Amino acid sequence: MFALVFLLRVLLIGRLLYQLFRFALSAFALYKLIAMYSVKEIFYTLQGEGAQTGRPALFLRFAGCNLWSGREADRQAAICSFCDTDFVGTDGENGGQFKSATALAARAVEVALGLCAEDALDKSVNGLQIVLTGGEPLLQVDSALIDALHERGFFIAVETNGTIKAPSGLDWVCVSPKLGSEVVQRSGDELKVVYGQDGLNPEEFLSWDFTHFYLQPMDCSDIDQLTMAVIEYCKAHPRWKLSLQSHKILQIP
Ligand code: SF4
Repeated sequence: MFALVFLLRVLLIGRLLYQLFRFALSAFALYKLIAMYSVKEIFYTLQGEGAQTGRPALFLRFAGCNLWSGREADRQAAICSFCDTDFVGTDGENGGQFKSATALAARAVEVALGLCAEDALDKSVNGLQIVLTGGEPLLQVDSALIDALHERGFFIAVETNGTIKAPSGLDWVCVSPKLGSEVVQRSGDELKVVYGQDGLNPEEFLSWDFTHFYLQPMDCSDIDQLTMAVIEYCKAHPRWKLSLQSHKILQIP
């Protein structure tokens, strides 16, 4: 009798776990069906910072970040507390929820071709640069999106905080580490360190595998002082270069 009750209980628990598993699968499938990519905004401008400064670029800003919620009430407690970007929601210019990589790539093409010459996406001339940014874009960027954007002729750059490994296939990887977070992406084309973070020692990054090393003064009330400090630092340590937020200086988006 005891064995029978035990067996019934095991069967009941097993059935319950199975139903929970199926529910989780359906919820996940529904989520994927409803929204695969959440995009805050897509806009066309010039890259304002770092090694690609001045190059025309379609910026695709994903919603959400893993180092700050984006809410002012949470800023002081966040790992990254100096963010200057609104990445909350999908209500920006050309923003929205996209159900597939092809739908998002098609939207990017539509925006680009509405604003630049028809041959802008000609792969034979290296294609128009699209900058996947955020928020933290690598929470959402996947191989399906990379393939879809390449098929449409884009040169794909990503701007990441480096806490998530970058998928393969990207054409340009720019990592901007935030002190207090664990950076796992320690290689790429460009390391852009925001100068003015408490406890920052640029020397610690020099063993990382990047082609370009940039220091960028933090956008804050001390920016003039920080800019002078970066200039002096770069002159003394010539592997580093100064990055300015030229789009802010020129007041372009
Ligand atoms: S990691 Fe980047 S997007 Fe996220 S809060 Fe910091 S500056 Fe903003």
